[in-house]
Amino acid sequence: MVLHNKYFKPSHKTGVMKCLLLICDGMADRPVKTLRGRTPLEAADTRNLDLLAKSGILGIVDTIAPGIRPGSDTAHLAILGYDPVVSYTGRGPFEAAGVGLDVTAGEIAFRCNFATVDENGLVVDRRAGRISEGTQELAEAVNGIKIPGAHFRFRASTGHRGALVMSGKGLSHNISESDPHEEGVKPHVVEPLDGSEEARRTADMLNRFILGCGKVLAGHPVNVRRIQEGLRLANTLLLRGVGVAPSLAPFSEKYGFRAGCIATVALVRGVGRFCGLEVIGADAEMSIPGLVSMAIDATSKYDFVLLNIKAADDASHDGDAEKKTAVIEEIDRALAGLLDFTVENYLAILSDHTTSISRRDHTGDPVPILIAGPEVRTDDTAVFSERAAAKGGLGRIRGQDIMNILVDLMNRSEKFGA
Ligand SMILES: [Zn+2]
Repeated sequence: MVLHNKYFKPSHKTGVMKCLLLICDGMADRPVKTLRGRTPLEAADTRNLDLLAKSGILGIVDTIAPGIRPGSDTAHLAILGYDPVVSYTGRGPFEAAGVGLDVTAGEIAFRCNFATVDENGLVVDRRAGRISEGTQELAEAVNGIKIPGAHFRFRASTGHRGALVMSGKGLSHNISESDPHEEGVKPHVVEPLDGSEEARRTADMLNRFILGCGKVLAGHPVNVRRIQEGLRLANTLLLRGVGVAPSLAPFSEKYGFRAGCIATVALVRGVGRFCGLEVIGADAEMSIPGLVSMAIDATSKYDFVLLNIKAADDASHDGDAEKKTAVIEEIDRALAGLLDFTVENYLAILSDHTTSISRRDHTGDPVPILIAGPEVRTDDTAVFSERAAAKGGLGRIRGQDIMNILVDLMNRSEKFGA
């Protein structure tokens, strides 16, 4: 929680102590039957995490609130100290910022897919045959579409994915999406969701833009080549995740930190960018040890570094307990290089949300957190796991408490009162 009191002023001191916040995406879990009732974190051999648990303080976190299932975007916002209920305005703007589009407050953004429609206009492949080549050229064609009253910026990201930003006067994000989320049906016509003139105009301009996409993509050389190669066409764009870009207080102003963000997923990079963290290049193929050493290097330049490691979440969504356990062990091995870091600096490790192997999705269970550093009040916990952390000295906190605790440990907090 950020203190909303006019007499409370956050400090802007600078210091030499650094902080590394490691978010192991979806690492927390529920007890898994095939792991004999243990969680993957309990089943994994995690000697470095356990060493850090011995020298640190543990607790459990409700990143949003007890029982609320967080998305990665809302969870990261909360962990960075932003009230997600106020600051979250849809996934699109974060995706767009994450793929490197500049999104300013008030603009509307979407996640997009290149998709295949047949001659009857039915979606036959929502991922355009998982297209991987030629999307930059297709994006150029899409960016050439002119619709009076609005300006569109599209960027292709990985595979069939991309993001779209729409700017113009009097836009409304209270509109429906075009992605039908299934095949064998036509893409939805974008509809206004209220009676406002803004929503009607926005929907109308978007429908004309989508029509334009169909025209420029149909005869595009990339698609001509795909026909010859027997591949599915990328002849339309499906839009979803609509949101209006939020206006967030920069991290540097909130905490007086120069902060960096390392993440392989666009969504998390986008959250970092919106919060004013500098996004440090990390490509999707980077190994876990590579990411950890990149984060250690970054602490020489930044006061605060957020590192998101996605792999455990992916394994959870696949329902693969063995893989998740192996990923956790891989993360643990990479942490050997961080043990010395905590002699003079702070390291916080947590999961942004629980991703349950059995549910194959995020759940509202609290996640374990570990903070190690020079002046933490150590507790009796000697293992980093969901159940061990519940007995730790931090108790049960919320996502929005984490930054306050870290800033205070780093002696950079301002006193509230006299
Ligand atoms: Zn996540």
